[in-house]
Formats: sequence, structure tokens, C-alpha cells
Amino acid sequence: MRETENEFKDVIIIGAGFAGLGMLHRVRQLNLSARVYERATNVGGTWYWNSYPGARCDVESLDYQFAFSDTLQRGWRWNERFAEQKEILAYLNYVADSFNLRNDIQFKTSIEKAVFCETKKIWQVVTDSGETTNATYLISAVGCLSTPSMPKLPGLSSYVGRWYHTGNWPQQDMDFSGLNVGVIGTGSSGIQIIPELAKQAQSVMVFQRSPNFSVPANNHRHTKTFTDEYYDSFLAKREQASRTTYGNANWSSYPSALDVTDQRRNEIYEEYWNKGGAGFMVSFADVLTNPKSNEFAADFIRGKIDSIVKDKALANILHPTDHAVGTKRICVDTNYYETFNKENVTLVDVRQCPIQSITKTGLLTLDDSYDLDVLIFATGFDAITGTLMRIDIRGRGGMKLSDKWAKSPNNFLGLSVAGFPNFFVITGPGSPSVLSNMVLSIEQHVEWIARCISFVAEQGAKCIEATEPAEKAWVAHVNEIAQQTLFPKNNSWYLGSNIEGKARVFMPYVGGIGQ
Ligand code: NAP
Repeated sequence: MRETENEFKDVIIIGAGFAGLGMLHRVRQLNLSARVYERATNVGGTWYWNSYPGARCDVESLDYQFAFSDTLQRGWRWNERFAEQKEILAYLNYVADSFNLRNDIQFKTSIEKAVFCETKKIWQVVTDSGETTNATYLISAVGCLSTPSMPKLPGLSSYVGRWYHTGNWPQQDMDFSGLNVGVIGTGSSGIQIIPELAKQAQSVMVFQRSPNFSVPANNHRHTKTFTDEYYDSFLAKREQASRTTYGNANWSSYPSALDVTDQRRNEIYEEYWNKGGAGFMVSFADVLTNPKSNEFAADFIRGKIDSIVKDKALANILHPTDHAVGTKRICVDTNYYETFNKENVTLVDVRQCPIQSITKTGLLTLDDSYDLDVLIFATGFDAITGTLMRIDIRGRGGMKLSDKWAKSPNNFLGLSVAGFPNFFVITGPGSPSVLSNMVLSIEQHVEWIARCISFVAEQGAKCIEATEPAEKAWVAHVNEIAQQTLFPKNNSWYLGSNIEGKARVFMPYVGGIGQ
């Protein structure tokens, strides 16, 4: 590498989703030069790639936005309580346009390698086209759910139909009218796309391995009065939210599900069910910490499934029984269970009869074969660390991040890694990230990183990095807090257990954003 000819930036940012855009804007405020590299053709990150029908955020739209600019906030109006993907993508384009961010974003470019040069104390960053840029700081804004996971099923190359992954959806609208569509996976993505497909397709075959707990969104349009009033107290709400565990000012809990009568407990669950949204999992303060309290919540949801799904055998297959409510991310749906009352929708229990292979015309399970015009993989992501581990990032002494994190993604505060100076990870493992309001978490990290960079300059220093003892203490703290909850007790992508060979470590920080 002939460094002298390489372009130099103060900061290189990987990814142009919420985190990358927020970081670029903040870095510019410090009068630093920056470039964002983004593999997509436009901004949006996860909201660019997950454009499948029914994609919607499970955090309320009014809270799922930046708080750093009053003008930005008042210039945008969210239409619905839970915004659909198109609206969030439009918002991120509005953010990019408002601050002319595109000038410093290079689209259709992936970062393949980043090497820290110890003598010069700079990062040398190499793109997929072989272009090298040097920078003082390297900041990852790659997101937590950006590398789709495909099941290792034989035969896909022989399949003559069309197939898609929800996390890598084509940008154009698609019509499924008259088609027989198969969906593998019933996590948040599957639960959102299935009701939409059922409105169009001739038939929808749902291949379910593990049923998930899902609660209704009870989505609705916002009135202008409501939005205006909300914005008047937006910053106060945001400040309050940042002191809570999950970053949501509108969530509140009753003390313990064990301290009330059966009747009162059911009334409270009913109240949260009708309110809609993921707040159900904190209806009582001990749902995520006490197995008995959690089982009450699980029973309530299973009862709801029974009351919605007319076919009792089908309702039974939809009952989640292998994990505590919320320990796999709770799903938020619109008419998911109701969809199984439709004649064109079939549920196939592939835990009972596993999928054997993809065939030329569809799919083969242990006991049957299915002809499908379209096959949709809603099979999740190599979450939180997957994207970063695929980039060849080398710190001191040529240490590879993927080697350092092979057994456990150790880091300090979820944003800095010992042995990797001047490298920051926005919402990395060990941070609240996916357990919180993501935008709030991102803004917290963006602000922290910006202040840290300013601090380094004020000291006349060239480098900053976490120490090993600080990292060890943080990892121990993250684990200690997680062990006080039910989260690590069940398999989930939070633990990496959806990816073969991945280290089983509970990755998010349960202690809350404020903490
Ligand atoms: P996911 O929760 O990991 O679900 C993947 C699904 O695919 C699971 O049902 C899994 O079954 C199934 N699966 C994987 N391999 C399979 C195989 N070989 N055979 C049969 N089934 C298989 O992924 P996701 O639904 O994409 O959601 C991931 C996360 O993205 C969510 O938890 C959420 O945080 C985020 N997300 C959010 C929203 C929203 O904001 N509303 C929407 C979509 C996604 P097993 O459980 O048995 O492994």
C-alpha cells in the first residue's frame, strides 16, 4: 500500500443508516473531514434493505427519530403510530437532504479491510474496488441487523421459482397475486410479511419451526394536534426516556405479576394488549426477571391465540412454549394470528417435520412436498457482530477483530475495543442497542464518540483506546446484569444461537441507556 498517495480524512464511517448519518452530521460540527462508505445505492441502512411488504418499526414513530435538531424534528410529520418502512426511509432521506449529507457519502461501496498503522497512528481503509483512504478515526455504523442469515438447505440453486430474503428485499414493489408463496421463518419479519402476502397471493404456506410471542400493534394514524402536542414536550420525553431501561418514556409497569389477584392480573394484561406494542413485556416489572411472572404473561398470550384462531389444532401449533416472553424479541403484528383463519393460508409445522431440501419446484419436508412459485426466507440475521466480523479489521500487532471476538465480543461500553485504537462501534455488543429505542441509543453513542474525539484533540493526543482491565470489567458487568434477567436463559439471536458456530454470548446490555 503506498500510503502517501492515499486520500486522507479525519474520520471514516462505515454505513449510512441512522447511526452513520447522525455521526457524519456530528463530525462535521467538529469541523473534521469525513467520508461515509455505504454498500447500498442510497441512505437508510436497515430501512433500505428491509423493504418487504408489511415492514414496520416496532418502536413508536414519534420516538424513532433524531432529537438533536428542533428544526429537523418540526419539519417532519409522522403519519402513523408505528411507521412503515417507506416512511422511515423517507425520513432518513429527509435527514440526509436537510444537512447535505450525501456530499460525504460514497454509495455502492463496501469496506473490505481496515488496518491500524501503529507508527503513523492512522487507519488504512480499503474498499471493494481497491481504493484506499487513510483516516485518524474509524467508526462503525454498520447496524445490528444488517447481515441476513440463510439456512443451509440443499437444493436452492436448482429452484426455478423466485426467492427473496426479507433482509435483502428488492427495491421495487412486487405483486404476488395469483402466486403460491412459501415463507420460512416466523420471527418479527415473517410475522409482518405473512398477513400482507395473504391479502394478495393465491396461497401462503407458512413454514414454522418455532412459534413466537406476538402482540398487536394497534397501529393508527396520528392527528396533527396529537403530533404537535407531542413535539412540545419531545425533548423532555427524550430526556426521561434516556434514563429508562428500554429508552421508552411511554412505557410504565405495575410492580409484580405475583402480587395481584388472577382477575386483576388479567385486567392489566388486557390493558397492555389493547394499548398495543412491545410495552406488553414490561406490563409488570418482573415479567423479564421472574419465571413465574413470565409464565403468566405467556399463558395470557396463548389464551389470546386460542381466542383468535378458530381451528384449535392450528392455535395449538402457534403456541410458543420453548422460551419466556420477551427473551426472543417479542413480535408486534397487525392481524398475524387472524391471518390463520384465512382459507389461503396454511401453517406447516417444520419442527415436527423438518425441511429437508429446496427442490426444483418448491420445498421438501420430512413428510410432504410443496410446489411454490415464490420462496421467502424470513430467517433473520447474523446479528450485532455479524457484519463487523466479516470485515477484515486489524488493530495493534495485526490482531484481527474477528479473532479477538471469536469466543466473546469483548469491548468497553459497547463502543470501544482494546487493541483497536481510534476505532469506535456505534451500538456494538455490550450496549443497550437492540434492547432499547435504537435511535436514542445511537444518539447517545454518537454524542459520546464526538466528545471523546474532541477530548483527544484537547489533550494534544493522537490516540485513544480502551484498556484491557476496563474491557474486562465492562464485560463482567454486562454479564452480571444479564444474569439477573431471563434473557440469557433461552436461545435467541441476542445470544448468537441462530448462527451455527457463533459464540454463545448474550450480547446486548440490559442495564439501560442511562446506566
Ligand atoms: P428472527 O427473529 O431471527 O427469526 C428467524 C426465523 O426464521 C425464526 O422463526 C427461525 O426459527 C426461522 N428459521 C431460521 N432458519 C430456519 C430453518 N432452517 N428452518 C425453519 N425455520 C428457520 O429474524 P427476523 O424475523 O428477521 O427478526 C430479527 C430481528 O429483526 C427482530 O427480532 C427485530 O429485532 C428486528 N426486526 C424488527 C422489526 C420491527 O421493528 N417490527 C421487523 C423485523 C425485524 P427458529 O426460531 O426455530 O430458529
